[in-house]
Amino acid sequence: MILQKGNRRIRLVYLLTGLVFISILGTSLVQIFAAYRAEKLSLYETTLGMNHESAQKMAVTMNTLFLTMKNSLRVTAAQLEVEQPEILQKQLNLFTESSGYFNSVIYVDKTGTLRAISPVTSGNTGLALTSEAVTNALELRMPTISKPYLSTTDRLIVLMTNPIYNARGEYIGFLGGTIYLREPNVLNGIFGTNVFSESGSYVFVVDGSGNIIYHPDQSRLGDNVNGNSVVEKLMQGRHGEELVVNSKGISFLSGYASSSENGWGIVVQTPLSEIESISLKLIANMLLYSLPLFIIILIITFWLAKTLAAPFSSLTDIARDLLNGKRYDRFLKANHWNYEAHHLNKTILLAIEAFQKQEEHLYSEAQTDSLTGLANRRTLDARIEQWVQEGMSFSVIAMDIDDFKKINDTYGHAAGDEVLKLLAKIMVSSTRKEDCCCRIGGEEFVVLQPDMPVDAAYKTAEKIRQKLRIEDNPTGLPVTISLGVASYPVSAASAKDALRCADSALYAAKRSGKNRTVKYTGSGFSEDC
Ligand code: GH3
Ligand code: MG
Ligand code: MG
Repeated sequence: MILQKGNRRIRLVYLLTGLVFISILGTSLVQIFAAYRAEKLSLYETTLGMNHESAQKMAVTMNTLFLTMKNSLRVTAAQLEVEQPEILQKQLNLFTESSGYFNSVIYVDKTGTLRAISPVTSGNTGLALTSEAVTNALELRMPTISKPYLSTTDRLIVLMTNPIYNARGEYIGFLGGTIYLREPNVLNGIFGTNVFSESGSYVFVVDGSGNIIYHPDQSRLGDNVNGNSVVEKLMQGRHGEELVVNSKGISFLSGYASSSENGWGIVVQTPLSEIESISLKLIANMLLYSLPLFIIILIITFWLAKTLAAPFSSLTDIARDLLNGKRYDRFLKANHWNYEAHHLNKTILLAIEAFQKQEEHLYSEAQTDSLTGLANRRTLDARIEQWVQEGMSFSVIAMDIDDFKKINDTYGHAAGDEVLKLLAKIMVSSTRKEDCCCRIGGEEFVVLQPDMPVDAAYKTAEKIRQKLRIEDNPTGLPVTISLGVASYPVSAASAKDALRCADSALYAAKRSGKNRTVKYTGSGFSEDC
């Protein structure tokens, strides 16, 4: 029980353990919170830096790739045999298959008519192409890269073109390479097919106008996101890292960089929630690893608290026992490693021991006669009551020193006292251990003898009388006593009556001339056994 029965006080052992528990828990919580913050901050910085670095590397790769793609378009355009359709088709097929840069390659004449396409299954020749990308390329007559747009075959595409001039230097159309944004394309080579990493990071690419060209979520392709702060910076040709909140209110750690070759921008971003969950996982691991240690510390603390509280607990138990009337013959030696506990326990045990001794002394004083050391009247009454209750029989010998007044008057009070002590000594030596010798008045004594018939008690009485008579005493003359004997329940119906009868027998002895024993038999007094 943590709380003591009957009152709401906490046990010391639980109090100490609780205090340690709270302080460890408090310190741990502060440390864990600090670790969580530090970890989150470090992950935050690292992730931002890594995303920035990845975006820059990807931008360099994309730059190189587009430069190569542009060059290969230029070189191929210069070699095309546009007048010979079969050769042209072969040239286009060879270019498509060998480079692998484009999903399809087209030759468009200067009127905007699709003259050849590879692979041939990708579209129908003879079609008049009217898209802004085609018109733009025809107008500019220089290498172009279009914005994403829907082709006649309903594909979301980006078109790269290179103008074609004939031998006479006349513009005759362009060679175009298309990238199908919603199908496997050259961009997958740079950004990979596993668009989402384990950390939830992903990459998306926007063109120079903020249109999404590459995104793990296909439904986002073609969306214009130029309101995004990162995209805005990309359109200004900048690179960097920052915390961005997207249109859905989700925060991301973004790194971004743009490619000078096509004006496209790359954004690598990690959801902020991911950083939080990684940090939380780390804290959970920390807690898991420190839990056994924490439990061990608590067990040790509980044990220490218990040993520290032990002396106080035992003192509490001793105090409760003493209140309940229990007596201690010996106390356990108080020895404790804690200075205060040791000394407090030792001092209190010594004090209790002293009080108990004092109490015992007072108790025995209250029960005995100080001059002779015999039991007093109170003890005599208590003993009789006890024996009566237990159904025991006993005999009573009442005695009185003959002419004691004279002894006092002649030899002094001190000599009288010596005579009293002598008689007491003889009484004890003439009786059994279980008998009770009492001094009930000035020179009046009683012996109680349990399980002793009146005749046997008579013999004891005579033994005492004769011993005293012949014993040396300060008066130098024989001291005599008169005795009366009765028994309970044979000669008297009650214990009180037995005492009274013994007293009567004693006075009968006095009347008959003193220095004798008279027994009361129930029917009368007698001086023989
Ligand atoms: P009897 O033979 O009839 O018993 O005569 P007695 O003189 O012994 O009896 P009495 O009762 O007249 O005298 C008892 C005396 O005992 C009186 C008292 O001074 C004395 N006495 C009582 N107590 C003490 C005590 O403690 N010490 C001493 N020295 N004398 C005591
Ligand atoms: Mg007397
Ligand atoms: Mg007397």
